[in-house]
Amino acid sequence: MTAHLDPTATIDLLKRILTGLPKLEGARCVGHHELFDARGADEDRDEAVKRHMTAVSLCHRCPVIDACAAFTAGERDIGQVRAGQIPISRVGRPRSA
Ligand code: SF4
Repeated sequence: MTAHLDPTATIDLLKRILTGLPKLEGARCVGHHELFDARGADEDRDEAVKRHMTAVSLCHRCPVIDACAAFTAGERDIGQVRAGQIPISRVGRPRSA
């Protein structure tokens, strides 16, 4: 069975979902999502921390960090860097030698 999307209904749905979201124009993370993403299942912990620290440095030079922080406040930690905050839950413990 093939599902067909109604373009008008899809646009209406997207409008409802996106209404009220901050625009975050000038966000430094645009085009650099790989730095902000959660630690990969096979990714070395230290590499993930290094990557996230680079992301945090972008956040601290971001013109919309206050709006980003307000938007993400209270959000569940999903392992991504947001608003200059390093995720705690998904970095994991260091591997034993
Ligand atoms: S503060 Fe928010 S919008 Fe700005 S770079 Fe960081 S995650 Fe992106």
